[in-house]
Amino acid sequence: MKSVFSFFFFVTFCILGYANPNKSNILSSYWVSPSRDQVMREIARKFEVTRKLNGGYEVIVPLNQTQDLFSLIPEAQLIEFDISSSIRNKTRQELQGYHDFNTVQSHLQTLLNSYPNLTSLEEYGKSLEKRPLLALKVSASRTQNRKPAILLTSSTHGDELITVEVLFGLLETLLSGSKTDSRLSKILENFEIYFIPVVNPDGYVRRERYANGVDPNRDYPWPQDPTHKSNPCISAIMKFYESHQIRASIDFHAFGEMIMYPWAYTYNSLPSFEEGIFDGVTGKMASFNGYTYGQISKVIYVAQGSSADYYHWKHQAWSLGIEVGQQKVPSSSDIPKILKENLDSTWTFIESIK
Ligand SMILES: [Zn+2]
Repeated sequence: MKSVFSFFFFVTFCILGYANPNKSNILSSYWVSPSRDQVMREIARKFEVTRKLNGGYEVIVPLNQTQDLFSLIPEAQLIEFDISSSIRNKTRQELQGYHDFNTVQSHLQTLLNSYPNLTSLEEYGKSLEKRPLLALKVSASRTQNRKPAILLTSSTHGDELITVEVLFGLLETLLSGSKTDSRLSKILENFEIYFIPVVNPDGYVRRERYANGVDPNRDYPWPQDPTHKSNPCISAIMKFYESHQIRASIDFHAFGEMIMYPWAYTYNSLPSFEEGIFDGVTGKMASFNGYTYGQISKVIYVAQGSSADYYHWKHQAWSLGIEVGQQKVPSSSDIPKILKENLDSTWTFIESIK
């Protein structure tokens, strides 16, 4: 009797647990198209606008804030109830060709062992749940002369799995071409390049967008909130950026095929001198892959607390956000194609840094 009861309890628990997981973990996507821009500005202030879509916008809404969205715009249309569920529920079999967090760590270690003269590995902090935050530095010579430092990051949003594969693809292409490809060997001689494949490991292990309930790409201080307190994975990377005197960076996201530069928090443009440089280099990058390029707030919508804004605002860095491909987790057979789209584009960006 006892075992039957336990079994019944177990099954009930599983069903309820599955059907009713922690509410704040569910993020829904909605399509909105307000007639007044004032309403859209209010929506963007409260929620994350991810892309333009069919004459309107896609916004991400935590389940427990659904009412707030409908009070702003009653005609909002649900696109997907739980945006991470299809990715979260994928089996390892279905994710063959993708790294999980264990293989991210072992892969970094393998590259470190394979290229001891070109690489070094640094743990720059811990996530809220105490997972290691890891950066692999790649550079050709160990001279004392400071070379411009570049940072490439992926999986700030933990469900954008393709970004990690693109980052590893860039890393491996650079390392394996170090002896045979004169362009890549020159890049290695002239720059220090840091690769952080998983900015948000707590989200990545769950294949969830957020870090511990917080959108990590709305979690950086910004001019109107300069003392903003960030999630540990974000405050750690902010310190990393500062201590390594990063000159330029790309934060890879998925998806949408967009190459974007500051500002996100305002429609105002950068000073024309800076905008000209950003526009020139991103335009050149886009010539290799046909991605859309421009200022974040104009290409998507106004967003506060993003990495690109923070690094430019705080460190005058040449900071970009790139949305790769057309899905967060495409078939692994598409990984080489999406990597290829981003090779010349990324090398061109690095070479443009003085
Ligand atoms: Zn993202």
